Amino acid sequence: MNDQPHSANVTLPRDEDVGRLRAAILEKLAYTIGKRRVTANDHDWFVATALAVRDRVVDGWMASIEQAYRQEERRVYYLSLEFLVGRLLFDNMQGLGLTETVRAALSGLGVDLDRLAQLEPDAALGNGGLGRLAACYMESMASVGIPAHGYGIRYEHGLFRQVIVNGWQHEYPEEWLSAGNPWEFHRPEVVHEIGFGGTVHAVPVAGHMVRQVWHPAEKIEAVAYDTPVVGWRGRRVNTLRLWSARPADPLRLDTFNLGDHAGALVDQIRAESISKVLYPSDESLAGQELRLRQEYFFASASLQDLVRRHVGASGDIRTLPDKVAIQLNDTHPAIGVAEMMRILVDLHDIPWDEAWRMTQAIFCYTNHTLLPEALESWPVVLMERLLPRHMQIIYLINALHLDRVRAAAPGDEAVLSRVSLIEENHDRRVRMGHLAFVGSRRINGVSALHTDLLKETVFHDLNTLLPGRIVNKTNGITFRRWLQQANPRLTGLLVDTIGPDVLDRPEIALERLEPLAEDAGFRRDFAAARRANKQALATLIRERLELRVDPDAMFDVHIKRIHEYKRQLLNILETIALYYSIRAQPTRDWAPRVKIFAGKAAASYHRAKLIIKLAHDVARVVNTDPTVRDRLKVVFLPNYGVSLAESIIPAADLSEQISTAGMEASGTGNMKLALNGSLTIATLDGANVELREHVGEDNIFIFGLTTEEVEARRRQGISAEAAIAASPRLAEVLGAIESGLFSPDERDRYRDLVSTLRHHDHFMVCADFESYCQMQSYLHGLWREPEAWWRKSILNVARVGWFSSDRAIREYADDIWRVPVLPQ
Ligand SMILES: *Cc1c(COP(=O)(O)O)cnc(C)c1O
Repeated sequence: MNDQPHSANVTLPRDEDVGRLRAAILEKLAYTIGKRRVTANDHDWFVATALAVRDRVVDGWMASIEQAYRQEERRVYYLSLEFLVGRLLFDNMQGLGLTETVRAALSGLGVDLDRLAQLEPDAALGNGGLGRLAACYMESMASVGIPAHGYGIRYEHGLFRQVIVNGWQHEYPEEWLSAGNPWEFHRPEVVHEIGFGGTVHAVPVAGHMVRQVWHPAEKIEAVAYDTPVVGWRGRRVNTLRLWSARPADPLRLDTFNLGDHAGALVDQIRAESISKVLYPSDESLAGQELRLRQEYFFASASLQDLVRRHVGASGDIRTLPDKVAIQLNDTHPAIGVAEMMRILVDLHDIPWDEAWRMTQAIFCYTNHTLLPEALESWPVVLMERLLPRHMQIIYLINALHLDRVRAAAPGDEAVLSRVSLIEENHDRRVRMGHLAFVGSRRINGVSALHTDLLKETVFHDLNTLLPGRIVNKTNGITFRRWLQQANPRLTGLLVDTIGPDVLDRPEIALERLEPLAEDAGFRRDFAAARRANKQALATLIRERLELRVDPDAMFDVHIKRIHEYKRQLLNILETIALYYSIRAQPTRDWAPRVKIFAGKAAASYHRAKLIIKLAHDVARVVNTDPTVRDRLKVVFLPNYGVSLAESIIPAADLSEQISTAGMEASGTGNMKLALNGSLTIATLDGANVELREHVGEDNIFIFGLTTEEVEARRRQGISAEAAIAASPRLAEVLGAIESGLFSPDERDRYRDLVSTLRHHDHFMVCADFESYCQMQSYLHGLWREPEAWWRKSILNVARVGWFSSDRAIREYADDIWRVPVLPQ
C-alpha cells in the first residue's frame, strides 16, 4: 500500500480538530516518548500518533463498558487460541472517523501518515483463516453493537516470519512486541491463578456431601493485557483481553543464593513458555504437552475472569446463563466445558445436574475442519497427569452421556463407542470435539456444505442423538478492512457513484452497483482504479523481488496457507503446462499473465515446503526464459500475512480457490478477493458454493470433481493412471518435474512428490488437472474481452454483500447467542 492514498473521499477535517490532534501528538512525543520534533524518527511519530488516537478510543471504550454494567447487558465471550489482527492504526482511526484529521495533523508536521502506517508490525497471533475470522468477528461485534469480549493468548512471538533462502522456506521468530505495543493496556491487577498436575481429595462437607478439592502441583499466573476494539463509527468499543503467563514466584531465592542462578529461574521459564509462541500447526495436531497447557491456561483464565465479572455485578452465579454466551472458536478452548463444571460444582457448590444444565446453556461451539488429523484429542494419561480433576469431570460427563445413549439405543455397542468422549482404540484419548458438542447448546459449521458434511460425518451419531443443535453460520469478512482500508481507490469510486452509505450498509448499498456493470463509463473508471492498484503491487514486487511484472497482465492470485488440500501444486502444474504451450507456439498472441503465490507452510510440513521450493524452481526457469518474455511470470511473495494480503487483494484479477472438494470448510480469502473485483476459479467447496449462488454461475468459474465424486473415487480406490494417460500435457508436466528439469542441481528432488501424485493422489490433483486447464484457457480468452471481464467483475462486487461479517454476526446474535443488535 506504499503509494496508496488512504482517504476514501471523506469530508475535509475541521481546522480546530486538526490543531487539537496535532497538539496531542506532540504532547505524546514529548511526555510519553521523551523526544523533541527534531530528534524524533518515524517510529517515534508512529507511536505518538497511535497513542493520541488511542486516547480518543478510550472515551468510547469507557462508555461501552459502563453501559454494559448499567444495563446489565447479555455479553458474548469469544474464546479463540488465535486472533490474526494485523495492523490497528487504520482500524482505529477509521472507526472514529479520524483518518483525515490525523493525516492533516501529521502533514502539518512534515510527516506522512501512510509511511508511518507501514511501520506498525502485524499482530500475527494466528495461523490463517480461523484466526483472521476471530479478528473480523471482533470488529463486527463492535460494529453491530454487541457487548463482547475476545479472550486469547498474548503470544510473545506470533506466527513465524517466513524468509525464503534459495527457494526454501526458513522460519524466524516474529518480533511484534520488541518495540512495544501502543494499543494494549497492561492490567497487572487482573491476575488469575492457573493450576497444573497434583492430586484431588474428597473432603466431606455439610450433610453427606463431599467436595472434590484439587491441589495442583504447579501454579502459574495469567495476567491480562487489554486492547480496545473499535466498531464502525465508534458505535461500540469492545475488549480483546489476551493472557500472558508468569510464574507465581518469580525467583527461587534460596537456589539463587546457593549460586545456581539459572536453576533459580527454571520455574519462570517453564511458566512463561506458555505464552511464548503461537503453536505453529495449521490444521494438524502434534500432541504436545505445551499445547494442552496453552489451551487450559487461556480457557481457565477466561472463565475465571468472566465468572468473577458476573458475580461481581449480579451477586448470583446462577444467573450466568441469562447473561453470558461463550463461543468456542474450534475445540482449542473446549477444555473450558470441564473447567466451567469445576468452577460451578467445586468452587460454587452448585449440584452437578444444575451445573450441567447451566454449562450447556452457556457454551456454543464452532467447528472449523473435518480433516481427521485436525480433530483434536488428548491422551487420557496426559490429561490425568496435567488436569486430574478435569479428567474426573470428563469421565462423569461421559458416564451420564453414555447412560442416555444406552437408553436411546439399547445394546448398540458400536454407537456407544463412536459417541463416547473417550476414544478406546490403541491409546485412550479424550475427543475434544465430542466434549464441545455435548457441552454446547449450538454447534455450527462455517459454510452450508461444511455444515451438511458435519452432520453426515464427524457428528453423525451425536446429531442423531442430540438433534437440532447443529446450525450453519457461513463465515464472513469485515468490509471495513477488506474493502475500505485495503482498497481506498475502489471505495472512493463506490462512494462517488452509489453513495456514501456504501460505507455504512455495504450489504445493501452494493446492490446498486448492479446496473453500472452495463455502463461503459463506469467500467472504465472501475478498470482504472484497479489498474492503479496493480501498478502499486507491481512496484511492491519489483522492490521485494527485483522482478518486473506488467501491470496490464492478468494477475492470477493464489494466496493462503500452503497445504496439499489447497492445491497450490495443481496451479503450479498448470503453470508449467502453460509455459510449455507458450514455448511450443512462441509467435501466438498470448495474453500476458502473472501467477502470484504467497503463503506459509507449517514448519514441520515437509511436503508443503517442497511445494514452495517447486514454485521457486518453476519461477526461475520461466522468468529467465527469453522465449516467454512478459507473457508469463511466476511470483512468490514471501511472508504472507494480513498486511501483505491487503496489498495483493485489490490488485488481483483472478482468485484461485481450488481446494479438493469437501476439504475446505469455508475459506474467507475467496470472499475478500471477490469483494475487490476478482473473478474466481473454483471447485465446489466450502463457501465457494454460496459464492456461486450469490454472484451467479456466469460470473464464477467452477471446475473439477464434486465432493460426492471425490468421495466415490476414494472409496473405489481409483488411481491417477487413467487421468494421466488421458492427458498428454499432464504426462509431459509430471515427466519434466520428475526428471529434474526444474531442479538441475538436485535431479530427484521431486521424485517422491510426483510418485505420490501418480500412485496415491489423495488430493485429486491429477483427476482435476484437465478440467482445471480447460477452465484456465477459457479465462484466458475471457481476459481478452475486457468489456465482458469487467462486467463480470463489477457484478461480483455488487453481489457479495452477503459475505459481510456483519451479516454473519447478526445471524450468530439471533440464532445462537440471543443478544440484540443495532438496527441496520
Ligand atoms: C483471509 C486470510 C486467510 C484465509 O485465507 P483462505 O484463502 O480462506 O485460506 C489466511 N491468512 C490471511 C493473512 C488472511 O487474511
